[in-house]
Amino acid sequence: MKISYVKPLHSWCNLGNNLPLIIAGPCSAESRQQLWDTASALSTFDNISVFRAGVWKPRTSPESFEGAGTIALDWLFEIKKQFGFQTAVEVLSPKHVELCLKKEVDVLWLGARTTSNPYSVQEIANALKGTNAAILIKNPINPDIKLWLGAAERLLLANIQKLALVHRGFYPFEPTKYRNIPKWELIIDLKTQYPSLPIICDPSHIAGNTRYIYPIAQKAMNLCYDGLMVETHINPNEALSDRNQQLTPSQLKKLLSNIQYCNKKENKRHIELIRLREKVDSIDMQLLELLHYRMEIIKQMSAYKKMHHIPILQLKRWKEIVHSRIKRAKELNMNPDFIKALLEVIHMEAIRIQSQEQSENKNNQK
Ligand code: PEP
Ligand code: MN
Repeated sequence: MKISYVKPLHSWCNLGNNLPLIIAGPCSAESRQQLWDTASALSTFDNISVFRAGVWKPRTSPESFEGAGTIALDWLFEIKKQFGFQTAVEVLSPKHVELCLKKEVDVLWLGARTTSNPYSVQEIANALKGTNAAILIKNPINPDIKLWLGAAERLLLANIQKLALVHRGFYPFEPTKYRNIPKWELIIDLKTQYPSLPIICDPSHIAGNTRYIYPIAQKAMNLCYDGLMVETHINPNEALSDRNQQLTPSQLKKLLSNIQYCNKKENKRHIELIRLREKVDSIDMQLLELLHYRMEIIKQMSAYKKMHHIPILQLKRWKEIVHSRIKRAKELNMNPDFIKALLEVIHMEAIRIQSQEQSENKNNQK
C-alpha cells in the first residue's frame, strides 16, 4: 500500500506539532441540549480540537437507541460555530457523506462494522472523491489487519489525504476484562510497517467501562499514538448508548492532565525494545485471560463429574492432552520438555480446583 501521501495529523487539526489529537464528545447525539451542554463544558479545555457525536448509530439490537439522525447535524453546526471545534460524525453510507458535507462536518469516521464491509467502504470512498474531508477508519471487529488496511487503501485511491486509523479493539470470543481486546502487538507491527500512517486510540470502546480508560489511554501514549478519541457525556448515567464507558467532562479533564504524553525522542532511542516489551505484555495478558477462562470451564467439568460420579483424574484423557499438545509444540519448533512441564503445572492446578469445588459442594450439602 502506498501511504506516502497521507498528510500528518497536525497539518489538518488545530494541533501543535508534537501534541496528540484529542477527540471528545458523546457516543450518540441524543438531543440539542445534551450536545450543547457537553460541548460547552469541553470548550473550557485548551487541548480538545474535535467534537464527536454518533448521529446514526449501527446498534446490535433494533430496539436500542439509534442516534437522533439528520437533525443532529444542525446541532453540530451550531456547536462548531459557537465553540470553534471541528466536528466528527460516523458515516455508514454515501447519503450520510453528502448530508455531513452539506453541514460542514470536518471529520467523518468509518465505524468498526463498516470497515468490516469492503463494499460499503468502497461506496463511501466513491462519495468522498474530490472532497477535502478528513477520514478516520476504526479497526474492523475482527483482528484482520489486511481488511483494515484495505479500507485505508480504498480511501487513498479516492485521493483522501487526511486520513488516520482508530484502534478500538477487537471482539473477544471469550469473556475478558475489557469490552474489546486491544491486541497492542498487532498495532505495534502496523506502526512499524507504516510509520507515517497516523493512529488514534479509542480507549472507550476498548475498555467498555470508565475504570479502565485511563490505563488504556496511558498505554496508547507510551506507544506514541497520534491521538485519543474519548467518549464524553454531560450526564453518562442517563446516556442512551454506551452508558458505562462515557466520562463526564471533568473526568476527562482529570485524565488529560494526569496522562504522561509520549516523549518521542526518548522513545525513538529504544523504540525496538519498547515495542518488543509491549508485545510481550499484551500476549501475557491474553494468556492470563485464556488461563482464567480455561479454569472456569474446569469448574463446570467438576460439577458434571460430580453429578455423574466420574473421578476427577482420568489418566487416559491426561495422556491424550499431553500427546496432542506436544505434537503441536514440535510443529511450532518449541521445546517439548518445556510444554510438558507447563501442562503439568496447569493440570495440577485444575485438579486442585476440582477437588476444592467438590469439597466445598460437600460442605454446603452438610
Ligand atoms: C462509536 O464510536 O460510538 C462506535 C459505534 O464505535 P465502533 O464503531 O468502534 O463500535
Ligand atoms: Mn459508543
